[in-house]
Amino acid sequence: MIENRSVNSLKCHARAIASLVGCTALVLAATGTTAEARTRPHDLARQVLPAGDGWGSATTGTTGGAAADAAHVHTVTTWAGFRAALADGSTAPRIIRVKGTIDAGAGGCESFAAPGYDFDAYLRKYAPENWGYSTDLNAEPDDSPEGLRRVSAARQDTAVKAEIPANTTLIGVGRNAGFKGASLQIKGVDNVVVRNLTFESPLDCFPQWDPTDTAVGNWNSEYDSAVVHGSTHVWLDHNTFTDGDHPDSSLPTYFGRIYEQHDGELDIVRGADYVTASWNVFTDHDKTILVGNSDSAETAAVDRGHLKVTFHHNLFSNLVERAPRVRFGQVDSYNNHFVAGEGFSYSYGIGMESQLVAEHNAFTLPSGTGAGTVLKKWKEAPLTAADNYVNGVATDLIAVHNAEIPAEPLSSGAGWTPTLRPRVDRPRTVPGIVDHGAGAGKLR
Ligand code: CA
Ligand code: CA
Repeated sequence: MIENRSVNSLKCHARAIASLVGCTALVLAATGTTAEARTRPHDLARQVLPAGDGWGSATTGTTGGAAADAAHVHTVTTWAGFRAALADGSTAPRIIRVKGTIDAGAGGCESFAAPGYDFDAYLRKYAPENWGYSTDLNAEPDDSPEGLRRVSAARQDTAVKAEIPANTTLIGVGRNAGFKGASLQIKGVDNVVVRNLTFESPLDCFPQWDPTDTAVGNWNSEYDSAVVHGSTHVWLDHNTFTDGDHPDSSLPTYFGRIYEQHDGELDIVRGADYVTASWNVFTDHDKTILVGNSDSAETAAVDRGHLKVTFHHNLFSNLVERAPRVRFGQVDSYNNHFVAGEGFSYSYGIGMESQLVAEHNAFTLPSGTGAGTVLKKWKEAPLTAADNYVNGVATDLIAVHNAEIPAEPLSSGAGWTPTLRPRVDRPRTVPGIVDHGAGAGKLR
């Protein structure tokens, strides 16, 4: 999206100086009015998050692997090849070009199951009419159905997670690159770029029955498509996150509860900071994005003052909830398009000590869905919501929420003003711009 970059805002990051390609291009871009398109690095893999583009551009900025030397540019077509390219133990800048769709669980659930694991035996033993609602399930021995489930789950966990090192750019090649069943762990590192990839949500092969989650129990599952855990300077751009061929509507029901096999599409947790998520599609999913994953005092101590995230020009379509659900962080959400479908619950979750600014967004809601449900109050936490349009009409989201749901009043004033916005589009134009430009396969 070359035309979106403001020439005036371009300047070299300290880290980009190490990348002669990126830095030279930016300097040239700033010197001539028509130079910008010509001089941005032609290789998409070497583009850096422009200065001023959201929280990811704060302090040292986000360059990923833009400065990689030839020895650290990999093209991968298999899960094993991808993990090998990640795992040389160095933090030298690296670029990983992903070709085609890579399936992290190509062997199927059977390939992860521990010897002796039998799902029918699991269902018989822990059915509420046999087991009741005891938490003793967690203390079951290793040779019990629950013990064998735990071992199987650990095997899947090891197989489908990939840890992304610092100073890495992951980029899809062409229009049809991405992952199925994979969980990217961007954990405890700085400076990661992820672009032009489609993520089909992992299916947890071994969800755990929790008899005490809700009054009637619940199935809980693991594996977000991507997790930013305690990391800084992350740019997620032009990706598509979807349940794909395995929507929740295709999942069975056991013990009267949906056998939930999905976790989140993207979680940003545990003191993560300085993240820009731009031009992504988040679609066909239930619990979509967490910014902060707990209210506990221990989590608060890690998250408070962090979790600064910008979401702009993303398409959030056919989701149930959490787009995102926010705790603690200063989240700037502007120029996004939200399209609600069947089963829509809410878009923004207003959680503990969150400081959400939601401005210049467009919402497309079906008839019968009140605009008040765009916001969901979990905790008392003022937010700023201005210049948002619902079905083409300027709408005060807080006032409408408070009128429709008077028992859960929200208050106005996030207490900070975002500045890292290179360009703000008029919200009436956002559906056209975002629907056309967001997601994997759109970068040129
Ligand atoms: Ca979960
Ligand atoms: Ca999660």
